[in-house]
Amino acid sequence: MTHLLIAGTSAARPIYGRMTTSTLIYTNNGEDLYLVDCGDGITNVLTQFGVPLEKIRGVIITHSHSDHASGIAGFVHSVVFGTSVELIIAAPKGIQKLIDVVFEYSGDTVPKTVSYIDLSDDQITHFSIKNTSFTSVPIPHHGSIKGHGIICQTHYTNHQDTSIAITGDTNDSSLLAEYIVQQNIQLNILLHECTFASDLNENA
Ligand SMILES: [Zn+2]
Repeated sequence: MTHLLIAGTSAARPIYGRMTTSTLIYTNNGEDLYLVDCGDGITNVLTQFGVPLEKIRGVIITHSHSDHASGIAGFVHSVVFGTSVELIIAAPKGIQKLIDVVFEYSGDTVPKTVSYIDLSDDQITHFSIKNTSFTSVPIPHHGSIKGHGIICQTHYTNHQDTSIAITGDTNDSSLLAEYIVQQNIQLNILLHECTFASDLNENA
């Protein structure tokens, strides 16, 4: 059984009662969890939801804007530091440097149980964590950075496979959609995040 916890749906500006965008994927009957996007304060919010943080096997960052990535160092410090928890972080290049700087500032060393996967801005990246495979499809985003649409597919023998796609706050997710169609991926869940300013009301 795979299910999602949508822990946050907000953007960078603080809004009372809404966390920045973050989605938790539960697989393997809640034994293996994956966090997609990690803005400030996400660890506290997940705790409020009763999430067993030590079961989060991977954190996937869809793009390097702060409301999706800036909580990662705090997450590593709160959940992995001083424990034997293993964590894989898949993100656009540069996240390791960000975490290293924060740890250095606090006089600590990043645990060796943390490892990294760089999501390419130019080509599709495939990777697996435990019995779950992920595909990152580079898509346009605002400003100079690329976004990464994420496809998550579970492969557990004792329950039905699930395919989930998360667009990740993109301004155009058609490349992700094309890939899904080309590969004939039968999605169970499509999570599309979008924000429209008031002058784009028509498009919304
Ligand atoms: Zn963004």
